[in-house]
Amino acid sequence: MFWKRRDGHASTELQCEVEGCDFICHDMLTLQKHTFKKHPGLQLRCKVEGCDFTCTEFMTMEKHMAWKHPQAKEASPSAKS
Ligand SMILES: [Zn+2]
Ligand SMILES: [Zn+2]
Repeated sequence: MFWKRRDGHASTELQCEVEGCDFICHDMLTLQKHTFKKHPGLQLRCKVEGCDFTCTEFMTMEKHMAWKHPQAKEASPSAKS
């Protein structure tokens, strides 16, 4: 699953969420491979506000998102102040 934006960016930048890691790529598969290689056993956290779901596999997280937050998809980075 790839989500594309049409607001001028050719592709969406995905950044590794691990603190101190500045790995950036443009597709989820690459990010998954990076995460598994560089950060084995990493806990993934649900990004949805108010949800404290965690897991260690992207597959599980994708299922969780699809089941629990079907509308969330990739939340647009709306900066709240
Ligand atoms: Zn990383
Ligand atoms: Zn959640």
